[in-house]
Amino acid sequence: MYDSLVKFSHCGQDIYCQSVPQQCPVCGGAAVSSWRLEEAPVTIPSPIVNGHTQRCSFVLKPTRGHFLGEYDGSADLHVGISSSTGMVYHYNESGTHKDSVGWEQTVSVPLVPAHHYSLLHQWDSYLEEFSAADHWHPHRYLSGK
Ligand SMILES: [Zn+2]
Repeated sequence: MYDSLVKFSHCGQDIYCQSVPQQCPVCGGAAVSSWRLEEAPVTIPSPIVNGHTQRCSFVLKPTRGHFLGEYDGSADLHVGISSSTGMVYHYNESGTHKDSVGWEQTVSVPLVPAHHYSLLHQWDSYLEEFSAADHWHPHRYLSGK
């Protein structure tokens, strides 16, 4: 989805963007006026992937908004687990959910090694069964606030 990001340092912070901005998004200063070599922007592989294309994975995204252009590094995050078809199961104050959209910008961690084909075939039924369990009632959800 996002092949790469640009990372640069400015005003004492590491800043990640899709391209080099004219102004620093943190302080508003000229982003390119006085870069030293060690502060020069570098291109890095993007850790952001479409969670709906990640099979059998742990996926993480901001609770509100998106990682790119909106996330400030301190807002709440939300997690889910994807099925073999990219359906994301997650839990919040209204209970468990299955989403086919909304997890397009995630950090993903595969949960099933590729050589465990037998588990891949059972993954969706386990996920469906687990998400229907009694302990996922909305009243048990704790937001941490
Ligand atoms: Zn700055």
